[in-house]
Amino acid sequence: MAFEQLKLIPPILRALAKENYTKPTPIQEQAIPSVLEGRDLFGCAQTGTGKTAAFLLPIIQLLSKQQEQTSGKHVIRSLILTPTRELAIQISDNFKSYGRFLNLRSGVIVGGVSQKAQEQALEQGMDLLIATPGRLIDLMNQGFADLRHVQILVLDEADRMLDMGFIHDMRRIIAKLPVKRQTLFFSATMPLEITSLVDSLLTNPVKIEITPVSSTAERIKQTLYFVDKPNKLWLLIDLLQEKSIESALVFTRTKHGADRLVRGLTKAQITAQAIHGDKSQNSRQAALKNFKQGVTRILVATDIAARGIDIEELSHVINYNLPNIPETYVHRIGRTGRAGLSGIAISFCEYEEIPYLKDIEKLIKLKIPVTEDHPYPMTINESTPNAVSVIKTSVTSSEHGVTPGQGDNSTRSDSTGRKGTSEGSSRRWRRRS
Ligand code: AMP
Repeated sequence: MAFEQLKLIPPILRALAKENYTKPTPIQEQAIPSVLEGRDLFGCAQTGTGKTAAFLLPIIQLLSKQQEQTSGKHVIRSLILTPTRELAIQISDNFKSYGRFLNLRSGVIVGGVSQKAQEQALEQGMDLLIATPGRLIDLMNQGFADLRHVQILVLDEADRMLDMGFIHDMRRIIAKLPVKRQTLFFSATMPLEITSLVDSLLTNPVKIEITPVSSTAERIKQTLYFVDKPNKLWLLIDLLQEKSIESALVFTRTKHGADRLVRGLTKAQITAQAIHGDKSQNSRQAALKNFKQGVTRILVATDIAARGIDIEELSHVINYNLPNIPETYVHRIGRTGRAGLSGIAISFCEYEEIPYLKDIEKLIKLKIPVTEDHPYPMTINESTPNAVSVIKTSVTSSEHGVTPGQGDNSTRSDSTGRKGTSEGSSRRWRRRS
């Protein structure tokens, strides 16, 4: 199918040609005609499927058609709520690209930056407002944002907004919108709260489901390294010696962990920057820009900051820590292998993370292939008998297939702090093949 068949207007088709999009993705094919007809839509799709254009293209078309009658000071004609600032900015960039041949005004309202310019933009009115819930609520409470004219509402990554505790803000915002409006709702997962939210917000929606979250994209090559926590940095540095990893997005669980890792990599002369919730918005944007432009080779991120960010041609995602929420694994590795490209996802698993691994493998219905041949295999110290018995139970009785190898049991540290194994003095934990 071609974009022309979706009844998109010529200025949009020209913009798509400029983007080098040759044909619509499945979600675009299914969503665009229904949104153009004014239908509500529920899309179960993760990032990487082309979902942003699936809602932006028809919205641009609808807005441009009714522009004359409905624009004006203070008037906000459509609203997109997103969980993170980066995602909001990215959607805004996409809107500007797809709408480049039309005269539509958009604005972004996010926290972490001064609100003055945002107040002014709201006063001017805009065709499309893209906002994170927290700052929008603040501005609404101060009387700056008038949502009475919103005709189209998009909730993007709704499941993530729930995870981040935005449900009350979302409900308060939605309560200020006209009841008669078009609502487009996107979520990568379908927990119960999402189903009930969908039922309460949408009227007779078109339902589209693309790549359920439990299926990790086939084009992503996944691999797993069992490694002791203190050796993770060394293993990462070792892997990054490999020139084929031109750039990588590395996930850590905590903000401190991200900062610590950046310091470690920098010491090893590997350019790295961190992006997480404690960084100012400017420094988050700068880190992202440097990474996208190839100035920094490694972007270390926590989940909150990285959700939804789109980096073209990202070849590697590295899970320095496994996430405790299994769906997060799918989202993380979905940063690579986008728009038809292939990608590689490397995960490190320390002893404490083995339960997370089990959950992930259950969700994706796949045993992640293990790379056994590496310099820092996981060791278990017999002086921690509890650890050994726990891991033994977990590995021998579990379906995730990690099993002890031969040898006895001590570890040593070298002068650099690396924990190494010595022949005959360590216990290695291996995958059952
Ligand atoms: P999204 O799922 O919206 O985050 O989009 C993932 C990536 O696919 C983005 O880099 C888009 O620019 C790109 N993309 C979206 N639609 C198309 C298309 N029809 N053809 C090629 N690339 C696309």
